[in-house]
This record gives sequence, C-alpha cells and structure tokens, in this order.
Amino acid sequence: MNNTIQLVKTEKNNQLVNFIYEVSGDIAKYLYPKRNFAVKYPFDINDIPESILNVTFAGNFLPFIFLFNVTLTVPALDSAFYYCIEDVRKGYQEMYPRMPFNGNVIVKKLYNEFQTPKETALRNTASFFSGGVDAYTTLFRHLDEKPFLLTLHGADIKLDDLKGWDSLSSLTKIASAEYSLENIFISSEFRLLFNEGALIRFLEPSGDRWWHGFQHGIGIISHGAAVAYKYNLSTIYIASSFSKDQKNTYTCASDPTIDNHIRFGFTKIVHDGYELNRQNKIHYLCQQGNNTHHFAKVHVCFQQAEGKNCCHCEKCYRTILEIIAEGADPNDFAFEWNIESVKAFEKSLKSYSLEINDAGISRYYVPVQKLMKLNKDKIKNYEWYEWFTKFDFEEYSRQLSLKLKQRYSHPRIKKILRKIKLMR
Ligand SMILES: [Zn+2]
Repeated sequence: MNNTIQLVKTEKNNQLVNFIYEVSGDIAKYLYPKRNFAVKYPFDINDIPESILNVTFAGNFLPFIFLFNVTLTVPALDSAFYYCIEDVRKGYQEMYPRMPFNGNVIVKKLYNEFQTPKETALRNTASFFSGGVDAYTTLFRHLDEKPFLLTLHGADIKLDDLKGWDSLSSLTKIASAEYSLENIFISSEFRLLFNEGALIRFLEPSGDRWWHGFQHGIGIISHGAAVAYKYNLSTIYIASSFSKDQKNTYTCASDPTIDNHIRFGFTKIVHDGYELNRQNKIHYLCQQGNNTHHFAKVHVCFQQAEGKNCCHCEKCYRTILEIIAEGADPNDFAFEWNIESVKAFEKSLKSYSLEINDAGISRYYVPVQKLMKLNKDKIKNYEWYEWFTKFDFEEYSRQLSLKLKQRYSHPRIKKILRKIKLMR
C-alpha cells in the first residue's frame, strides 16, 4: 500500500487555523492517531490565504515525506515555498548521506499571494527568539531593523507546560520591553503529530532523533509564513546553535544547508550567526553590553528555575565562565555570582557531582581555561579562578568515568537497567 498524506481541509477560525488530514499506509504507526493539527496566532488569520497557511502544514511534514517516501497532497500552496522543496531535500541529504530522502509533494494549485516589494513600501524583519545566547546574539546583530520577536509554545516548552511557557514568554517580554520590539506568540500542536519514540529505531542510521535531527528547523520556521504575509517580512532570522568550525561533527535539523533555502513569498530565511562559535557570541554580547550598557539578560538554564538561571547547573556554570573569561561580570547578564558561588562550583567539580562529558570539556572548558589565562589582566578577582585555570580536566575525566562505572555496576542500578532494556 502506498504511503500517502492528504491535507483535506484548512479550517480558519479567527486566530486559529486547523489542518484536517488523512493518512494511508504503514506510516500510520509513526504518527499519533489524531488527524488534525491546530496553530493559534496572536492575530486574526481569516484573511490570510490558505496557500500561505498551508506552508506550516507542508513544512512540518516535509522531512517525514522525504524519509518514508510518502506522497503528500495539498490543495493550495505558496509557489515560492513549493519551489524551495528540492533544495531543502538536498540540504537534508547532505546532512544525512546514509539516509534516503524520497517522496513527493503534489499541489493542486500554486499561488503567489504575497504582496510584491513594489506593492508595499514597508518591509519588516522578524527573529525567532527564546532568550538564550544564540537568540540574543542574532537579536543584537539586527536590532536596528526592529525585528518582531517570534516565540513558539509547543516546541521545547510543551503545550501543557503552562509554567514553563509563563517563564519563556516573560523572558521574551523583558527583551521586547527593553528594546521596544513587538512579541508574536504562536502556539502550535506541531509536536503532537509524530510519535517521536516510535521513530527512534528507524532513525538509528542517522545518529539523531526526530525532533532535534529532522523536524525542529523547518517545523519552527514554517510557522513564520502567516506572520510574513501579515507584516510584509523581507527576512526571518533563526539563530544558529552550532557553528561553521563544528561542521561535519554534528547533525541538526536547523542548519544553513537547509534553513537558508526556505522561502515563502518574498520572504527569505537566514540561519544567523553560523560563523560565530559560542565563545565568539559571548564575546560579542559582552562588547555590546560595554558599548550600549544594555546587557543581554540571557536565559540558558536547564533547570528552568521559574525563568531564572539556577547558576549551578552545567550550562549556567559554562556560560558564567565564558563571560568571566571575556573580562565581564556575570551579574550583568541575569546570573547571580559571588565568591560563595565560585566555592560551590569548585566543590561540585572536585567532588564529581558536576558531570561534564568529554565533548563538553574539549569544546568549552579547556578553551575557557586558556582564554582566562590570556585575559588575566581584564578579569576582576582573577585570584578566585586561578585554581580553575590549573584544573586538570584529563584527570577529572578519568576519575569521573570510573565513578560512573561504579555507580552503574551497583546491583540495584543494574537491575533497573535490565528492566529498562526488557521494556524497550
Ligand atoms: Zn542553571
């Protein structure tokens, strides 16, 4: 039986668009049984053409269509988006040479319903924003364009996580108030379409998972089509998280080889800041802070401590050290940091309660040690960090792996691990 997905209806109801679709073939086991997909915008979408709204539907299914050789049928689609599909496919193919990317998209009628640059004097820009180091770097690089800040509920913050959403939306409101920008909050069911667990085995040859490796780039970006139409956007920025110097060492759905090919109407997508690694971005944010006295109130924390940085998880520590190594003060950047925090950090590192893997050590911690030594004269209270600049990460790594081995060889843990294996 052929695998097909058919968009049957695009229902518009004020701020809500609801895509109703049908599925046939074995692919059904990789999809959740619900056959609709709703997206809510902060503005009325009744006047936005279906060909533009449908970009969000097609964009989210595209990587799935490619991987499972599916025929996707859509009644109406923006022609610029339709014509970028082949380049997007090539981008995925380049990222995952060992996986086949087939499938096709059949559109009953293509439309050009965006206003041309001639028809509208004003063209704006927008940037996806989540409050992290990457998002702030991109925002500052384009601040003079006064970009709209686009933030999605239903991506990393699940739709039922209202507390998490409250934190994220407050963070983005802080940024928009500080820089006189406008927020656009979109909530979307796009993570309720694919059974990410069921896809794990199929995606094994890629070495990545569905959301991170395949869906999230174009999935997020395609929500921008309706916004691009409404506000005449010339460009939508999406911040890079990996950098050029890491090429061929990672896989990720959001990458210049894919994102930069995506088009809708006259709007282009820019995967921004790829030439900068994380330390370069921190350097830039510190420089901006010194020049403008506006410091990026970055949120980097894994712990989601009510929208604040916990200041004692691995990501918080890493970012704090990167800021210090630039000669700046983490307290300017939404972190709380003093001599007690330094002592707590030293204790957790030396007791191995702070676990840093080898990739993290070589990618972030060893370079930050070197930079600290180099910028010694610029660093306030350098004596607080002298022990860190001499810290032996090779020895740490050896001891940590021994400790982890011991931990996992404990009979009780072994039993639990066996159970997990049986359940899979
Ligand atoms: Zn933290």
